[in-house]
Amino acid sequence: MLQQGMYFRTVREHSILLMSQRPNAPYPDRLSNDGQTLYYIGHDAYGVPNKAREDQPLMTPKGTLTQNGKFFQAAEAVRQGARELVRVYEKIQPGIWSFNGVFELRDAKMEFDRIRKVCVFELRLTDDSLNTENEARGQSTSPGRLIPTQVKLKVYKRDGGKCVRCGSTENLHFDHILPFSLGGSSTNPENIQLLCQSHNLSKSNRISY
Ligand SMILES: [Zn+2]
Repeated sequence: MLQQGMYFRTVREHSILLMSQRPNAPYPDRLSNDGQTLYYIGHDAYGVPNKAREDQPLMTPKGTLTQNGKFFQAAEAVRQGARELVRVYEKIQPGIWSFNGVFELRDAKMEFDRIRKVCVFELRLTDDSLNTENEARGQSTSPGRLIPTQVKLKVYKRDGGKCVRCGSTENLHFDHILPFSLGGSSTNPENIQLLCQSHNLSKSNRISY
């Protein structure tokens, strides 16, 4: 299981970032209003007192790169023309993660957060989501396809944290009842339902069985 939020190139060629927009989230990640740009906050130093008052480190005390540092280095390579793809998952409830798509790292900077410097990573949603979970559904992640966190929370609660078809509580996906590609809404909870992975995949782009 994933324990922390930043994984530089641990899975195939993709890195992974775990984000959370919940009010009590440890790091205030945010998505732009069109859902296409993610501002991801780096992580604090480990094992130091008052870590929330210390600058977020790029290097460990041993002189190796932290996860912050690895993503910073990748952003430097991006400025030279490289491409850095990142799979982004969002925490909906404890233990429940939703795939938000494949993003491309665009920039990294240190910003003052009133009392200290934090890392801010800018990522942009790509069409590479075609190559991942959405491939089986024949959908791409396009503007407006991402389901806002507040909608996910409502749907999760309404559906009791279970697949609406079989009651499974594992590998849940937020499904567009009327597919986004056919004009279905991402922002109306009435058009979103919880499905387990197998029911999500078997549904494909069909509206009903
Ligand atoms: Zn199911």
